[in-house]
Amino acid sequence: MKTASGDSALRGLAAIWLRDSCGCPECRDAGSGQRLVSIIDLPADVWLTATRAAGDSIEVVFGPDGHRGVFSRDWLAEQHSPPEDDRAEDAKRLWAAGDFAAGFPERSWPRYLASEADRAECLSGLLRDGFFLLRGVPCQPGTVLTVAASMRAGLGGREGRAGREGRAGRAERVAFYAAYRAFTEMIMKQELMLTFRLGPGDCVTLDNTRVLHARTGFDAAGQRHLQGCYADLDGVASTLAVLRRGREASR
Ligand SMILES: [Zn+2]
Repeated sequence: MKTASGDSALRGLAAIWLRDSCGCPECRDAGSGQRLVSIIDLPADVWLTATRAAGDSIEVVFGPDGHRGVFSRDWLAEQHSPPEDDRAEDAKRLWAAGDFAAGFPERSWPRYLASEADRAECLSGLLRDGFFLLRGVPCQPGTVLTVAASMRAGLGGREGRAGREGRAGRAERVAFYAAYRAFTEMIMKQELMLTFRLGPGDCVTLDNTRVLHARTGFDAAGQRHLQGCYADLDGVASTLAVLRRGREASR
């Protein structure tokens, strides 16, 4: 792999990093911003064949395939000090799809709401396994926020983690991309994938730091209604602690 060079805004940035971050319509869906290519679709060896200043942006031509990308100078400046994620992986259970042959960790929405023990089990499963499934969630706009709120009930005393600014060097990035490719090859293994169809009222709750999720596909011409939101993982841990304390006190 070769280093991006030429314009000083590109100095120190690995070419594979830029290529993977390309936001052109071939690389990202214009509507959703979702990635359209996987790391294993990209050439293993990527370099810059030409760069050209274009106003507040820089146009880059990549080798070996001649792909073109445009990067704003503001975005490039941010890449010199990306944030670091310091979440540990202690107490996480590593699993394969076969471990759920008997069924997924799931609850009905009414039971989840009615029983603190069931709610605690779901949240503890989320932190341990990375996901759980709710069935029978009302199919109304905004319900997903009610689900998220149910996982934040105990939040009050704990502070969110402040992001630490880190600095990734170009070696680090080249090493990262070698690991990223190996990781993607690993997660594409069938034995590590759970594939299932969601029906109306199904709500998958994921720890995004543990479990990756994707669609095998859907018909863009059909009617589709999907609600999604993000919630704070610290809120889950806090709510679980409150639920456990309440259950211990009632014994
Ligand atoms: Zn592109």
